Amino acid sequence: ARTRVVVVGGGFGGATAAKYLRLFSDHTLDVVLVEPNTHFVSCPLSNLVLSGHRTLAELTVPYTALARSHGVTVVRDTVARIDPQARKVVLASGPEIGYEKLVLSPGIDLMFDAVEGLREAQAAGRVLQAWKAGPETAALRRQLEAMPDGGVYALTVPEAPYRCPPGPYERASVIAAYFKAAKPRSKVLVLDANPDVTSKGALFKKLWAEQYAGILEYRPQHKASGVSADGRSIRFEVQDDVRADVANVLPPMRAGRIAVDTGLANVNGRWAGVNYQSFASTVHPDIHVIGDAIQVAPLMPKSGHMANSHAKVAAAAIVAQLGGQPVNPAPMLTNTCYSYVDGQRVIHVASVHEYVAAEKTFKTVAGSGGLSAGPTEQEGRYAWNWARTIWADALA
Ligand code: FAD
Repeated sequence: ARTRVVVVGGGFGGATAAKYLRLFSDHTLDVVLVEPNTHFVSCPLSNLVLSGHRTLAELTVPYTALARSHGVTVVRDTVARIDPQARKVVLASGPEIGYEKLVLSPGIDLMFDAVEGLREAQAAGRVLQAWKAGPETAALRRQLEAMPDGGVYALTVPEAPYRCPPGPYERASVIAAYFKAAKPRSKVLVLDANPDVTSKGALFKKLWAEQYAGILEYRPQHKASGVSADGRSIRFEVQDDVRADVANVLPPMRAGRIAVDTGLANVNGRWAGVNYQSFASTVHPDIHVIGDAIQVAPLMPKSGHMANSHAKVAAAAIVAQLGGQPVNPAPMLTNTCYSYVDGQRVIHVASVHEYVAAEKTFKTVAGSGGLSAGPTEQEGRYAWNWARTIWADALA
């Protein structure tokens, strides 16, 4: 029988890993990808669906090419349980699949219970997150469209680390652009548990002052502790309550549930510790964890670009290990996070990270990377092309 690698989760990390395991092994490895959704829906650019500048259909890619062009076996199911000793996964529908190596890229789990009343308000559809792109993105768009002019949209940001450091600030900006054009008496309130804007802070704050004064208000040190039963009032640990017509409460996050249930989230019970040279779990070395679920190295964001980078390092390490070859001693990762500030203009931050063997971690390369001087339409075109390129890299 051929050697099998099972990949759990077909997001930015998992889809890339499945494809590159096939490519790096010259198609000799048997690669099985388990993912419950028929289509990949991109979180990057999904804020533009909320603001009405893009549609979800434009951000949706089928899994068919992974099977057709790369010979990945795509199984439409959820992994209910992993048995690391027996090296097998158990699918929700019942069957088991054995593996030599497992790649786990389950993304994040939203910790609803950290905010009182949020689980109920979310289940009833009153308070949404839309931090996993899909039907909730469309539902939050409908809430924003239904909001009367003069209404308040409140977005809470959890303490870092969370998925996509600039994501909340991009969301606030593009929704402010929508309000400015369509309901100019409305307000965007950003209520941030952190002491300051977590990413591209100076750029965002300058933009908000210049472009969204009177529409967008930013308040740091606001840690959400509860939501009211009607979903219209948010409580904070220290600060006063805030009333909102549309409350978009992002709770703290941790590694996707299957990682937690398998005992892999060994850093504060939230994130999966990995050996950064190969992304092997520090709990079970035959399970490689990538993407948002891991405990990140310093200055490493939880981003789709990073998950795509992790996937290639992990896939190369697995192919080397299974072939009895040494693992690359000095892997590199790259990252770019583009953020729209309205329907067209974009700012970015970029970085390059190298594995430093002596310290067993990734560090940013001195002099690498960069930051926009300010938003431009040119960067808007780069951002759209970045998205199309990375979707193709993972899925085509
Ligand atoms: P995901 O992409 O979430 O994939 C996880 C997959 O695992 C899902 O498909 C899920 O269905 C599947 N899964 C989970 N559990 C199981 C199970 N038990 N069995 C089988 N399958 C399972 N990143 C950027 O680089 N650039 C951006 O501009 C950007 N913008 C963003 C904007 C927003 C609004 C948001 C929310 C995020 C943004 N991100 C951006 C971040 C990016 O989306 C994530 O970092 C990325 O999706 C992480 O990839 P992942 O593989 O870890 O998780």
